[in-house]
Amino acid sequence: MIVLYELGEDNLYKEIDRWVRGTDVPESFEAILPADDWEEMSDDRIINMIDGPYVVASYVDESAGEDRELAEMECPAATQDVALNTRNRNSAIQADHIQYGPLNVDEPAGYWEDIADFWDTSTEAAQQSKCGNCVAFDVSPRMDDCMPGPTSDDDGRLGYCHMHKFKCHSARSCRTWAKGGPIEDDETSYEWQGKDEGGETA
Ligand code: SF4
Repeated sequence: MIVLYELGEDNLYKEIDRWVRGTDVPESFEAILPADDWEEMSDDRIINMIDGPYVVASYVDESAGEDRELAEMECPAATQDVALNTRNRNSAIQADHIQYGPLNVDEPAGYWEDIADFWDTSTEAAQQSKCGNCVAFDVSPRMDDCMPGPTSDDDGRLGYCHMHKFKCHSARSCRTWAKGGPIEDDETSYEWQGKDEGGETA
């Protein structure tokens, strides 16, 4: 069964329709894509598909006898799609205004000095401004569930960056760091995701 959700004004997704394969594609689905496209698309392709900023379509596994909570179904696309995550991460590394890094946290090769220069502060102060305490760094329980593998290592942990839409590491940083993080509760996580569903890339 394919379930269609729409983002409400309160920034939470609400179910608006369902479609069972083999039956007519509902009008609400056709408002997004032609019926033929829905019918030809595999369930795998549909899972977490986002079309435009306000609509997400998901798949509920009826054979498993469970109607999974939306929290499990609306993971940001980059947490489920390695290629998209890599593309967004590479963009964040290369973009002059972002410069995500350092690539190797053990050998930062002047990264912290450069970003301190950019922020007009000391290297020590710059090193206090990392993904781990950035306002866009999401380590909420529901986002942890979206992560496909282990989130922690000796240097810190992975979280999801809502600003640049990729899985970033707490020990790194970027030029758009902003204080106020990390995001640790599901409600704030949903609010951020509601704000940033508008695009896929950094
Ligand atoms: S915006 Fe924040 S969380 Fe995202 S890469 Fe930059 S420092 Fe990390």
